Formats: sequence, structure tokens, C-alpha cells
Amino acid sequence: MSSLPVLVLNSGSSSIKFSIYGAGNGERARLFEGAVDGIGTDLGKFWIKDASGKKLVDQTPPLPNRSVAFKLVADALNNGQFPAPKAIGHRTVCGGPTVRENQRITPQLIDEIESYAALAPLHTPIAVYIMREALKLFPGIPNFAILDTYFHRTIPEVAAVLPIPREYSALGVRRYGYHGISYESIIDQLQPEVPDKLIVAHLGNGASISAIRCGQCLDTSMALTPTGGIISGTRTGDIDPGVLLFILHKIAETTPNAAEAANKLETVVSKKSGLVGISGVSNDMRDLRQAIKAGNAEARLAVDKFTWTIARWIGSYVAELGGLDMLVFTGGIGENDIDSRAEICAGLGVLGIELDAQRNHVRGAAVISAPQSRVTVRVIPPAEDLIIVNHVVRLLGIV
Ligand code: ADP
Repeated sequence: MSSLPVLVLNSGSSSIKFSIYGAGNGERARLFEGAVDGIGTDLGKFWIKDASGKKLVDQTPPLPNRSVAFKLVADALNNGQFPAPKAIGHRTVCGGPTVRENQRITPQLIDEIESYAALAPLHTPIAVYIMREALKLFPGIPNFAILDTYFHRTIPEVAAVLPIPREYSALGVRRYGYHGISYESIIDQLQPEVPDKLIVAHLGNGASISAIRCGQCLDTSMALTPTGGIISGTRTGDIDPGVLLFILHKIAETTPNAAEAANKLETVVSKKSGLVGISGVSNDMRDLRQAIKAGNAEARLAVDKFTWTIARWIGSYVAELGGLDMLVFTGGIGENDIDSRAEICAGLGVLGIELDAQRNHVRGAAVISAPQSRVTVRVIPPAEDLIIVNHVVRLLGIV
């Protein structure tokens, strides 16, 4: 079989990232990658690079809305300059309670995913919009929904159920977990020697952590939405529900309309909290490290809260797994922030986790534990698009 061009689409609130892989005969090669960024502004960017990193498209078009942005991508991929996709994989953050398996996208499936948009209001509306556009602009090409929640479908009911009245659970309110494609990629890269008891910390602008037994997810920190779990760049993570009520009452003093007040609360917990909330400086670890060097006490406290929370979570997952063989750091902070890794692991000697300061002085893939450490500690960057391509190819029935 010759190489089959597979398009991977990853849409966010202001960008659509994409890559094209050639897939066939067990081979996967990334041919091109690109993005339209700055959607909703006059300062849009549209670029496509080849596998060597050479920019083949580099434009600054006005991108008033998603429709214009996605049409730009579709036109470029349909004009003969690039291999036209024969299949499309959509990174899909949440399929709700009924769409738990990766599968071919049909208009009915999109409606089903959309019917649970209230469970993931920041992600689902964008995802379903791009799915509908892709069906229109690439007619006859099979599209697949590849879910970030798929990896977490194995968590036991005790981890999935949330302590709320059944009437809300019945609406699909439960732990779904996110970053699943990243976790799958780490497992894939550890093959064929996936340790029995594994913890992976995906620390990016959004951050989560998972306990994985024999390659299957046992527990994960994010729950109904990516706002739950450990604190991250702009999100609270798990928090006393009384705090939400307090903030909501405060907001209601000036915003009597309940829906508007809920939206404002959403902005507070998803966009203004976490590292940026505590520090008042930035959600970006690079800025925070600079501020710490300059003596900023709030930045120090924010980062301490972050590393302290992760260390506690690791402790509870070691208990849940009944031990630990390997700890993996991934995501922008996990891969690049030497100090965060050192600070998280500093108090974990009791769990058999010992970093080697020299080995930890690295950005990108490496073993960073000391030779005598009972637990192996590694840094592994995820290759999420490759996992999406693998699912698409499997669902097409091609190896
Ligand atoms: P996302 O969660 O949006 O997918 P990433 O996983 O790429 O993003 O993580 C982005 C975050 O990684 C940044 O906000 C920043 O906090 C952190 N980061 C990126 N590069 C570095 C670096 N060189 N040093 C420290 N932190 C970094």
C-alpha cells in the first residue's frame, strides 16, 4: 500500500493547528504541519512548514472568524500543492457520557457530541464547528473523532463517580479526565516495556496527572472539565466548593442574571486563577521563574503551590497503585522546567524517588533519576498527532 495522507486537526479557541502524515506499511512520517492563529483578530497568522522545518506558507491574513480560518486551511490542502488528505482525525477533547470510543464522524455523531456541550463549554462548541466544516470542505473523506477522554475510559467507577446528587450524575456529570492522547503517547513510547506502576505528570499550561497500571488508566486528576485536578496556568484545579459559592455570591452582587454570573465565575476559575491568580504575574512558568529570581514573593508562592500540589498528588497515586516503578514528566513545564521537576521530587525520597541533579539539567527526553533511585524518573515529550494518526489508520482498517 502506498502512503496515505492523514490530516490531523487540533482546534482551540483562537487557533487551528494541523499536520499531515503519510501513513502506510506500518510507517508514519510527518510531511507538513501548520496553523492558523489569531482567529477573531485582524492580525491572523497562517503558516505551513515541511518536514525539514522550511516554511512553505507564511501569511498574515485577516481572520475575522473560524469559518474564514478553516477555509484557508482547506483551500491550501485542496489546491494540489500539498497531498490532499484521504482521512482526517479530529482531536476531540470531550465526547460526553455517550461518545466514549474513537469513531468515524457522522452528522448524527456531531449532534450527539453537541448535545453535551454544556459539560465542556470551552471545548465542544469549537470542536463540533470544525467537524461540520471539515465534512463540508472535504466531501467524501472519512473524518474520525479521537478523544482525549478515551484513555481514561478504564478508570473504576469509584474514581469516576462524583459526590453529587444522582439527578446531576444522570446528566453525565462524572470524571472523564483529559490529556488522554498525551498519556497514550507516553505509553506508546515506553513500549514494549511499560512499567506495571506508572505515574505520568502532564504539566503544560493545563496540567494533569494520571496513575496508570499495566498501561491502563487507574485514576486521573482532571474530572468533568480540565479546570479540575492540580492547579495550572490559569485554572484553580480542585477547590473547596464553598470558595466557588463565595465568589458566586460576590459576583451576584453586581450581576443579578444567573447565567451571566455563572459565565463570570467560569472566567474566574478557568482564566484568572492558578499560577496567574496567586502570583498576579503570569501563567507562564518562564515568567514566574524570572520573577522569582528578581525576588517576587507572590511568584514564589504560586510556584510552591504548584509543585506542592503535584507532590501530594504523586503521594496519593503511589498509595492507589500500591507502589511505583516509574514517574514520567511531560508537557511544556514537565519537559523544560528543570526547577519544577527538582522541587516536585525534593520531598519524595520516602517514595523511592531520587533525582540526579546533573541528569535533571536537561530539556527533552532523558532519564533523570539517580542510579540508586528505586523509581525511574523520565522526561518524555508527547507525540500526540502520531497517536491520532494511529487511531485513524486502525479505524480505517489499515495497519
Ligand atoms: P499547552 O498546555 O497549552 O498544550 P504546553 O504543554 O506547550 O502547552 O505548555 C506550555 C507551558 O509550558 C508554558 O505556559 C510554560 O509555562 C511552560 N514552558 C514552556 N517552555 C518552557 C521553558 N523553556 N521553561 C519553563 N517552562 C516552559
